[in-house]
Amino acid sequence: MPAALSKAKVDAREKELKIPNEQKAAICREKGGKVTIENAPIRSNELKRGEALVRLIYSGVCHTDLHAILGDWPIDAKMPLIGGHEGAGVVVALGEGADEFVKKGDRVGIKWIADSCLKCDFCRRGHEPNCPDAQCSGYTWDGTFQQYAVASARHLSHIPDGLDLESASPLLCAGVTVYRAVKEAKLLPGNDVVIIGSGGGLGHLAVQYASNAGARVIGIDTGSEKEKLSIQLGCEKFIDFQKEKDLVQAVKEASSDGHGPHAAIVAASSPKAYEQALDYLRPRGTLVVVGLPVTDIKANVFWTVFKSLNIVGSYVGNRQDAQEALDIAARGKVKAIYKTLGLSDLPQVYDDMHHGKIAGRIVLDLDK
Ligand code: NAD
Ligand code: ZN
Repeated sequence: MPAALSKAKVDAREKELKIPNEQKAAICREKGGKVTIENAPIRSNELKRGEALVRLIYSGVCHTDLHAILGDWPIDAKMPLIGGHEGAGVVVALGEGADEFVKKGDRVGIKWIADSCLKCDFCRRGHEPNCPDAQCSGYTWDGTFQQYAVASARHLSHIPDGLDLESASPLLCAGVTVYRAVKEAKLLPGNDVVIIGSGGGLGHLAVQYASNAGARVIGIDTGSEKEKLSIQLGCEKFIDFQKEKDLVQAVKEASSDGHGPHAAIVAASSPKAYEQALDYLRPRGTLVVVGLPVTDIKANVFWTVFKSLNIVGSYVGNRQDAQEALDIAARGKVKAIYKTLGLSDLPQVYDDMHHGKIAGRIVLDLDK
């Protein structure tokens, strides 16, 4: 791990390893239902082989958490559900064998992939998200909107010393996902990339990881706050999708040679964004599919062939991607922009997210 350049804020709670009898958790009891903050048991005495108990202090809120409770996707989430998959905290208890991966007191992150077998063809090749036995935090496995979470130790990420837990939490899904998506875009330094949703949770980090890779970034989102954020983080051009009348033409004109960008990373849950991207990509361009509206991508076969387009699905990242994404942030090259609220604010956060009001990420302090 590279030496940390920035000095992390230390949270006194990181040192407290005592486990209470009860905790607070945000629980959703039915699909499409509400989230309520309740007292919940802590499973410290039931840890199975390979499991660790993590005292979570912060969790980011991803748009996926909202898709999960709304039942937006073809696979159902467990119910009742404790959502969340950007959890940062400290290991406080270990099941048998878990010490192979973590020790008590380690600063760790819980990501979307809660567990995978590590033995199948996919896992062996570093495609853990595609493991047939993969479990997902905040979907098939209770997640990080709770103060004490049971985790599979082998899938915990280690948070580098130079990074405080609060700033690390948005990186655990949004950061890892877009870091991997930038790799999937196969950009060369100097290439043009469009980030769709550049002012959102994933998008604002994608802008930074892509700029670090030497790309010239064009941001698309809406409103002055997201425009300011996109430009401040490295977009050379910004297009407001609600104001621009001919978005396809505007993106082509914003590209270096007028032929359209080399890649488009869709970090928004908008079906229209996908159709437009296929139109403005240059020949041989790559569409990186990240945002998850329940929709089909309508790609015209003739133009896909004639322009020789690549359409690539990108699903979070593997354990190595996560470590790299965190290390880059610890070195000060990428910074999550977030506002911190309390766990009890989660219902309001979902409402704001639904209405597109959140620039950057919301991080929840799980003690509030
Ligand atoms: P977010 O709500 O924080 O950000 C989405 C942004 O997209 C907002 O800023 C919004 O204004 C913008 N937007 C909406 N419509 C747009 C359009 N037509 N053009 C440009 N911008 C538009 O959401 P998020 O947490 O960043 O998640 C984004 C999507 O990515 C969600 O669908 C989420 O489920 C998905 N996701 C996928 C993966 C994966 O592995 N593929 C991982 C995490 C999240
Ligand atoms: Zn997520």
